[in-house]
Amino acid sequence: MTTRDDAVALDSADPLNRFRDEFFVGEPDLLYFDGNSLGRLPLRTQTALADAVTDRWGTQLIRQWDDGVSLPVTVGDRLGQLLLGAAPGETALSDSTSVNFYKLAAAALAARPGRSKVITDDQNFPTDHYIVEGLAQDLGRSVTMLNVDPVDGVTLADLKPHLDDDVALVTFSHVAYKSAAIADMAAITSAAHEVGALVLWDLSHTVGSVPVDLRAAGVDLAVGCTYKYLNAGPGSPAFVYVRKELHTELRQPIWGWYGQRDMFAMAQVHDPIPGIERFTVGTPPILSVIAVEHGLALIEEAGFSALRTKSIELTEFLIRLCDERLAPYGFSVASPRDSATRGSHVALRHPDAGMFNERLRSEMDVLGDFREPDNLRLGLAPLYTGFTDVFDVVTRIERLATSGEGTLRPAL
Ligand SMILES: *Cc1c(COP(=O)(O)O)cnc(C)c1O
Repeated sequence: MTTRDDAVALDSADPLNRFRDEFFVGEPDLLYFDGNSLGRLPLRTQTALADAVTDRWGTQLIRQWDDGVSLPVTVGDRLGQLLLGAAPGETALSDSTSVNFYKLAAAALAARPGRSKVITDDQNFPTDHYIVEGLAQDLGRSVTMLNVDPVDGVTLADLKPHLDDDVALVTFSHVAYKSAAIADMAAITSAAHEVGALVLWDLSHTVGSVPVDLRAAGVDLAVGCTYKYLNAGPGSPAFVYVRKELHTELRQPIWGWYGQRDMFAMAQVHDPIPGIERFTVGTPPILSVIAVEHGLALIEEAGFSALRTKSIELTEFLIRLCDERLAPYGFSVASPRDSATRGSHVALRHPDAGMFNERLRSEMDVLGDFREPDNLRLGLAPLYTGFTDVFDVVTRIERLATSGEGTLRPAL
């Protein structure tokens, strides 16, 4: 049996352990396991935001746009090159993930006018489903919804039978939001390309947690959040990635002035910038862009590959403890067991997962989350989650499971 001393030893040997001190901790006893939904607040961001409010807004006033106007593109570019394997000029910060998803999916469909099908899968994130449905209805296309394994996620084998020259767009999440399954980005992208379809990846649970190489995989389009593993705060802007060979071929549906060549010439006629800027729309949230910049700096200092290594160790540790101590109470692992195909969270399946999550929150000082129908989802953010935290969260779950109160069921 694994002991708490084992966990403490792992923390002391962990080269990234010191990054915990980079984060604001409001409640020392709280175990935070939802950094995959909203990352913690970095102390440097707290300071930088306070400074930006005073200097940029308070003092510089309108002059802050001198560099502010280009900040979403420079910070986006840094994100793309550091975390996504993007070439310079392929990534920008703009809008929310949902809005970016709409813009890029619409641009892709417009570029494939004679084709009627959009393919996605039933484990993809709801906002992606809704937007694809809405676009298909508006544009007279149809959605093919693949039924995929809820643990292993979408595979090339699921997609293959549906690929033909009527497919306009293929879109999946790279890391599944429920099970954390990692899809085979390169194989799926190249199979879709073989029939002439475009591919759009949602990287919300990938960015800052699982390294990808978008250029090597030939990815056309991608979007994702910055408030999850990038710790840029609630509502921070999402990113858009468009392979540079497609920049002038694609036209997104919202023709805002930030995509306009020489925007302050205030021309009457829309003339989009030939680069990634044409996929942005309007005035960006500068304070949040600054938060993205500091979130990225932290990842750069820690080293992305060291973070991925620790993330794998943390998820393996949690899975081992679940097998040892929670399985007797009816919990099972609902994430892939092969770390090569698992992102940075772990879903634990239990018939009473919703009740466990509620009671962990209200009685045990644990914030994880519940995902329908029976998943208790625990996010392990390697910058600030320790092995001892993992040990303690399992202990608290075990304590609830043995408390015998409420509607707890006996062991299965
Ligand atoms: C979190 C998440 C989103 C969120 O989109 P918003 O527009 O920021 O609300 C979208 N897609 C996936 C896969 C997510 O995990």
